[in-house]
Amino acid sequence: MIKAFIIPLLFSQLCLAQEFTIKLNRKEYKIHEILSQYIQIESISGNEKNAGEWIKELCLQNGLHVTQMGSENGNFNLAASIRPLDSGLPNIIFLNHIDVVPVGDSVQWQYKPFSGRIEAGEVWGRGAFDNKGAAIVQLASVIQAGKTFKKSENLPYNITFLAVSCEETQCSGGAKYVADYYLKQLNPAVVIGEGPPGLKGIVDTDTSLSLFGISIAHKRAFWLKLELEVPTAGHGSTTPLSYSNRDMVIALNNVVSHEQPVEFTPINTHLLKDLGKLEKGIKAMALKHPHAYQGALVPKLREHPEVFSLLSNTITLTSIHSETDIINLIPGKTTALLDCRLLPNTNREDFLAYFKKQLNNDSIHVSVLYEMPPMHPSSDTTKFYKAMRDAIQYVYPEAAIIPIIMPNFNDVGVFRSKGIDCYSSFPIQLDLEHMKHIHNYNESLPIAPLMNGKLTYDKFIGSLMLYKE
Ligand SMILES: [Zn+2]
Repeated sequence: MIKAFIIPLLFSQLCLAQEFTIKLNRKEYKIHEILSQYIQIESISGNEKNAGEWIKELCLQNGLHVTQMGSENGNFNLAASIRPLDSGLPNIIFLNHIDVVPVGDSVQWQYKPFSGRIEAGEVWGRGAFDNKGAAIVQLASVIQAGKTFKKSENLPYNITFLAVSCEETQCSGGAKYVADYYLKQLNPAVVIGEGPPGLKGIVDTDTSLSLFGISIAHKRAFWLKLELEVPTAGHGSTTPLSYSNRDMVIALNNVVSHEQPVEFTPINTHLLKDLGKLEKGIKAMALKHPHAYQGALVPKLREHPEVFSLLSNTITLTSIHSETDIINLIPGKTTALLDCRLLPNTNREDFLAYFKKQLNNDSIHVSVLYEMPPMHPSSDTTKFYKAMRDAIQYVYPEAAIIPIIMPNFNDVGVFRSKGIDCYSSFPIQLDLEHMKHIHNYNESLPIAPLMNGKLTYDKFIGSLMLYKE
């Protein structure tokens, strides 16, 4: 059913011709100027309160309805919506996080990491991309929606900017807390979270082609602790037949030297086929028919761990520790930690059985330190996915857009595990070079693409506001 929002939508299209500004303390700022101010408020995970209070004030001054969902460091979360949450409308939620990762050695930074410096057409500093840049583009679009639909009655959806604490450390006071205590009040129809930008240079046969991935699924963390105790006489001068360091190293070698098998699932097969359509020649053929060409394709894909991680469960040995660090004393106990990431369809018991078989040492005690809940991928046939795809295509007519799976977890997973459709995309065009600085030194975000990011979200919101089943 077409609703009577066409006039405000046309109006908003006209407004886009002008530069969009955000109000703060009786002044008007451009998107990148607001981002610069946001970066200047340090908010390393667990210290979100100051930045959170600032963003709350920004939301209030721009006409949004704010609901606080925890107000302390490590638990500062807020929802800012175009209608009050108690209106009970199904909600299109833009999820982002206030916290940033530490800056490391600040001497390595070209500009001070919390300077928010605007230089050479870019905004510099920790959080410029992850996640403050993406958050401010989301916020610009939510403020725009608030203005566009200010006088509209019977809106099909509320639109909400949801900023949470400690995504980077996955503490319990952030997205998880919000989902546990405020899910009913939020009433999410869909959650749009942090995701990849459009990138060039991914497709070999056309390096100028811009590829936008909309994430519909992610792998889940399955963190294991291994403990082995072997009593020994203790002195290093006589090598026992068996001792914990030796036996643990042999068992771990069995695991890490073994190539993880490829697991074709509906999502990663779909992803390879989509990439195949963009390539040419034999490569296109192999990608389009991954099962048939498995023998030739898999060794090639193994050369790119960032791609292969989407096709297999991964096991990474991140720590080995023995009781002592004295050179002539044989420790009685050795511990190891492994960061395993499972594909969405992998059963935990099957994986554990497989892992223990690889380990081949029944004396090693294996415990699960942490695991994320299993979850179903979000469908790429919903109106929300289609609205995002069409919005990206409208703003970037030459781009290719495909549904993807992410090798890493972020906060959308909390909502996905509750059965809510979640899609992740930061719809700006960026080059691969900028991606290297995320969680690294000299993080920055170019200013020029930001308005197109906002325009994409505007189109996404606009098309969903037009229709309701
Ligand atoms: Zn992030």
